[in-house]
Amino acid sequence: MENIQNTVTSEPMSLMSNICDNLGAYIFAKDMQGKYIYANDKVEALFGCSKDDIVGKDDSTFFDLSISQQIVENDRKVFSGKQQIVSEETNFVRHTSEQRVYRIIKTPLFDRDKNIIGLVGIAHDITEEKRLREQVEEQKQLLSVILDNVEAYVYMKDEDRRFLYVNSKVANLFGLDSDQIIGQKEQDILPIDTAEHFYASDSKAITEQQVQRVEEVMVDNGEIQHYLSVKVPVTMAGKRSLIGFSTDVTEIFKLKEEFKRLANTDDLTGIYNRRYFLKEAEKAFSIFKRQNTSFSLLTFDVDFFKNINDQFGHPIGDEVLQNLTSIAQRLLRKEDTFARIGGEEFAILLPYTDINAGDYVAERLRNTIASSSLCGAKKIQLTVSIGLTGFNREDSSFDDVFSRVDRALYQAKECGRNCVISLN
Ligand code: GH3
Ligand code: MG
Ligand code: MG
Repeated sequence: MENIQNTVTSEPMSLMSNICDNLGAYIFAKDMQGKYIYANDKVEALFGCSKDDIVGKDDSTFFDLSISQQIVENDRKVFSGKQQIVSEETNFVRHTSEQRVYRIIKTPLFDRDKNIIGLVGIAHDITEEKRLREQVEEQKQLLSVILDNVEAYVYMKDEDRRFLYVNSKVANLFGLDSDQIIGQKEQDILPIDTAEHFYASDSKAITEQQVQRVEEVMVDNGEIQHYLSVKVPVTMAGKRSLIGFSTDVTEIFKLKEEFKRLANTDDLTGIYNRRYFLKEAEKAFSIFKRQNTSFSLLTFDVDFFKNINDQFGHPIGDEVLQNLTSIAQRLLRKEDTFARIGGEEFAILLPYTDINAGDYVAERLRNTIASSSLCGAKKIQLTVSIGLTGFNREDSSFDDVFSRVDRALYQAKECGRNCVISLN
């Protein structure tokens, strides 16, 4: 202590003391026995006593050393290593009965002959800062557990299309670690078509600053996957960005498609049903009204089908209807719409077909059916009566066409069956 005082005059000493009191840090000095030789105002306030009461005492007076061992350990390190140490100390202050955390720098103090004579400490109370840091860390961990376990693909991208965040589901989907994705542009890690497809709604969310809800597709292992995506614009570090949540809806999409298919399909024959046929026919009629495309419509009904049921039973009747369907299907083009519109009544819509060409199709169908054996071993033969008509300029709706073909079919029955009647 004497050595230090001898090295400085009292005026600079009081100046230094003044500075130390106003630095906003805890500043102190101790001798080799750990006794305080200096403490600034903040240390005074912390210990709840005057500088004079501090000087000459060691830390056991001010701290509960049984739970503040780092103080002693750090002092020892400075004394033995003769080097500055920077560390965190968690100390229990007797005066306030509080545990506080300090970021502390302890520097050895030397005399003129370079002999260590003590240490100087500068400490900042980081209790609050540390609590907040830990709180943020805990929240980050919690968020990360939630985001990695939620059944959604969660990601953030900036307006340069760089990934700012991906959860583990996204990383798995891309077959990369999240570290390999974050910071990358999506077009550098995804097939260009997929990247552009995603970018369409990403850019809309960012430029229009509006939440986008879209259906997206991505090919994964050769299979098309469907996603329902919500993209929310956000600003991150002053940059326009987005947070996206995508849910895999492939199963639901497939089910929806299957329901749609079933709703349009006839159970027994697997071809279209009446509902779907009429919908398609209405569409065709509006195309016909707008463009100069010819359409023919034919319907056919099995002659004396009741007899087949009576003779062979209903199940064989069903089989006959199925076989009849296959025979007719083989004669049709892929653009034709073939449907079962009643028990043993069928309809075919023929686009790009005028009534003459339609008549040719109808005759061929009638002949083929009449000369076919419809139930293998049982060699069931049957005939059909066919009504045919074309879409006319004078028709105001498809209903007009449909009632005309019905009349034609009725006439075919009247004319003795197994024939084609066409009405224009
Ligand atoms: P025609 O049409 O030549 O006047 O005589 P038809 O004997 O075919 O008379 P109709 O059209 O009145 O009778 C149709 C019969 O078809 C009556 C019904 O039992 C039978 N049928 C309708 N739907 C099915 C079906 O899904 N399976 C079977 N096996 N029979 C059916
Ligand atoms: Mg019939
Ligand atoms: Mg009938």
